[in-house]
Amino acid sequence: MTRTKIKDILQNESVDYAVTVKGWVRSFRNNQFIALNDGSSLDNIQAVIALDTDESVLKKISNGAAISVQGTVIASQGKGQRVEIKADALEILGECAGDEYPLQLKNRPSLEFLREKAHLRFRTNTFGAIFRVRHSLAFAIHEFFHKRGFVYLHTPIITASDAEGAGEMFRVTNLSFDNPPRNEDNTIDFREDFFGRSTNLTVSGQLEAELAAMALSEVYTFGPTFRAENSNTTRHLAEFWMVEPEVAFNTLKENMDLAEDFIKYLIRFALEHNRADLEFLANRLVEEEKQKPQNERSEMGLIEKLEFVLQHDFERITYTEAIDILLQSPANKKKKFEYEISWGTDLQSEHERYLVEKHFKKPVIVTNYPKNIKSFYMREDDGCAAGKETVAAMDILAPGIGEIVGGSQREERLDKLQERMKEMHIPAEEMYWYLDTRRFGTAPHAGFGLGFERMVLFVTGMTNIRDVIPFPRTPKNADF
Ligand code: ATP
Ligand code: MN
Repeated sequence: MTRTKIKDILQNESVDYAVTVKGWVRSFRNNQFIALNDGSSLDNIQAVIALDTDESVLKKISNGAAISVQGTVIASQGKGQRVEIKADALEILGECAGDEYPLQLKNRPSLEFLREKAHLRFRTNTFGAIFRVRHSLAFAIHEFFHKRGFVYLHTPIITASDAEGAGEMFRVTNLSFDNPPRNEDNTIDFREDFFGRSTNLTVSGQLEAELAAMALSEVYTFGPTFRAENSNTTRHLAEFWMVEPEVAFNTLKENMDLAEDFIKYLIRFALEHNRADLEFLANRLVEEEKQKPQNERSEMGLIEKLEFVLQHDFERITYTEAIDILLQSPANKKKKFEYEISWGTDLQSEHERYLVEKHFKKPVIVTNYPKNIKSFYMREDDGCAAGKETVAAMDILAPGIGEIVGGSQREERLDKLQERMKEMHIPAEEMYWYLDTRRFGTAPHAGFGLGFERMVLFVTGMTNIRDVIPFPRTPKNADF
């Protein structure tokens, strides 16, 4: 008999039909009631086995064991569930070595403990919920762009360009470390390397996406990106997934509209398709918040927060306005900020969080940053006073997360772009292909990058980015 998913049984209104279910035991009581989970839903199904089941079989029905149950779906005799399975046959597919099973603990295991057991943590309710939500969000990303006629572009993972900033990239090589080929000045001769030049893992697909946007008009990338930044924070991974739409003819305003619609679409999708998982995660959050002092607890529950974001426009302010708000803030006057605030320096995470969590209490889009703290490809704003040049950048800041999106209108004017590259010592010869788009039918265009894991953090209410990617890569950690 083919296997029926537990989710389908729980959603089906009818009873009195035969099924085979397979899954892992979550609990076993009174030598009779098995709570079985197959990952298709948060909820388990209860299988009731015969009272005369053999002692040798009973011993093997322990937490974590994989089993197959054949039986009939009936209206439940007990409380707590609508239906259950009256088992006719039970097969042990794989026993679980009880004493060694790390999820056997009496107390609820901590997230830190589970991070060290990342190969098994999928089996907990929390991680089951997180990864079902993560899946939904990934699916919704494709649906959102597909509906709008975007082309999904696969940009390369191995790249020779280091446009985003030196020192943050992972080198890709097959040269020998013991005896690498050397130039006369003793530097490594990368002409001997696999690609005949020095290559790295990509930090962003944007530059390549721009090339495609100059023909396909609307494209997006969604793939892994790699940054060797040594920031051991709850918001940074060395390997993370990024979504990068790039749209010809869009200005900064349209770029912001797209990003806001996109984020809201993802939230709405999760609320619609992952209600039970989100409710579970909301309760988890309430429990977690109880550990915090009263004044640090969030005012809204997870679902309320998500609905609130859907119902309100994101606040849109310029960098200059943001600096003014921060300078005038009671927090600044009471010297609560660690980093100094002044026009021309980048906003620190504490400043971003003040703006979204204390001042506006909703997502904020900060635009028009000083040119000197942003990337070379961002479009310089027209009519700036000398020394106060800004670019058409936009960062979206989310409550509890900080920066979730970074984007801009791109500099489409060849002369301006070349000038900027020179100032920032970006080798124009190597980037001829990028500059070519500005030579051959250049057009205004804009795009942004959304950090996928930060979006998953926001929707699940989790607080550490290591808990929303299956196997996190962070400094000194690449287990599993
Ligand atoms: P941050 O200032 O938080 O380090 P960034 O300015 O370096 O981010 P961008 O280069 O603008 O980030 O990348 C676009 C988006 O990718 C960010 O808004 C963020 O959501 C995400 N992101 C950036 N770096 C990381 C990282 N190390 N781990 C996870 N997500 C990241
Ligand atoms: Mn950024």
